[in-house]
Amino acid sequence: MEGAEDCCVKVAVHIRPLIGDEKLQGCKDCVTVVPGKPQVQIGTHSFTFDHVYGSSGSPSSAMFEESVAPLVDGLFQGYNGTVLAYGQTGSGKTYTMGTGFRDGCQTGLIPQVMNTLFSKIESLKHQAEFQFHVSFIEILKEEVRDLLDPTSAGKSDTANGHAAKVTVPGKPPIQIRETSNGVITLAGSTEVAVSSLKEMAASLEQGSLSRATGSTNMNNQSSRSHAIFTITLEQMRKVNPVFPSNNCQNEDMSEEYLCAKLHLVDLAGSERAKRTGSDGLRFKEGVHINKGLLALGNVISALGDEKKRKEGVHVPYRDSKLTRLLQDSLGGNSRTVMIACISPADINVEETLNTLKYANRAR
Ligand code: ADP
Ligand code: MG
Repeated sequence: MEGAEDCCVKVAVHIRPLIGDEKLQGCKDCVTVVPGKPQVQIGTHSFTFDHVYGSSGSPSSAMFEESVAPLVDGLFQGYNGTVLAYGQTGSGKTYTMGTGFRDGCQTGLIPQVMNTLFSKIESLKHQAEFQFHVSFIEILKEEVRDLLDPTSAGKSDTANGHAAKVTVPGKPPIQIRETSNGVITLAGSTEVAVSSLKEMAASLEQGSLSRATGSTNMNNQSSRSHAIFTITLEQMRKVNPVFPSNNCQNEDMSEEYLCAKLHLVDLAGSERAKRTGSDGLRFKEGVHINKGLLALGNVISALGDEKKRKEGVHVPYRDSKLTRLLQDSLGGNSRTVMIACISPADINVEETLNTLKYANRAR
């Protein structure tokens, strides 16, 4: 297993296949993967990452095993983790993460994370007691919204074609807080205690249904918000005393409490506001989204720069809600993987290059 002292941010690229629309438009595949290397080429541009996953269909088990399973293992050892899907709208972020979970569909990383968690606790149940909590929020226009809020379940405004949450009057906004020992909490968001895979999947499904979407010229299912599904694992481990007496019985075992969380983040589309033909309100949302992605890029690049880290350079977590929320799960002992999602189509080449440059900065 990779130690926590390794560079704390790993970057993988996921290239989806050409999709129906692109084929209809006669798009050409302009992305080449260098055989046997985690390297992608577009024209004369060449980028190397930790891993590159090709366009062969569903999020492969290789992506899960190499890039995400170490973070799941870390969770059991008390390390926080963050998986981020970055890319333009339509590049496959939701598909890759599995945030659009519907009807028990198993595609995506989150369902694979959930399966692994429950098979792990089954095999470890004699050594520890486990409790999972999940939360599911989105950040839209620098505001945190609770996707699991039971008081607004089903109350969506579908008249104009997108699910806009009805805000309950008098409900205080969700606030990001930091405890004295640096733990970030979300005051006012729903935390659901889950004891089975079925319950966890139900929370994912509930939240993904209430996730706000709006239409833009580019993709009418485009999502302008960051969606963050967080799994918190508490465990009470039975540990042997350091100097066991000869007749050490079970009662002499001491207990160790560990708590860690894994954030699974489906980021807002990274395309420029101008490309989506946005104006007025939508443009403002675009500006805010860019604020989160900009801050994230700055934080990750500060963390990845060993020289800067040694000099104790300021990491600008406070510049956006997104980075503030992820503060205790990016850097330090935590593990982070960014999955840059790209379309292979030649019409998207400009945004694809922007995505690869952003991801390259994170290394
Ligand atoms: P995003 O969340 O980045 O906007 P989506 O995940 O919604 O993008 O993907 C856009 C479209 O491409 C969807 O129709 C999705 O089913 C399809 N798609 C994405 N990734 C893949 C893939 N690896 N294989 C097949 N289809 C994919
Ligand atoms: Mg999406």
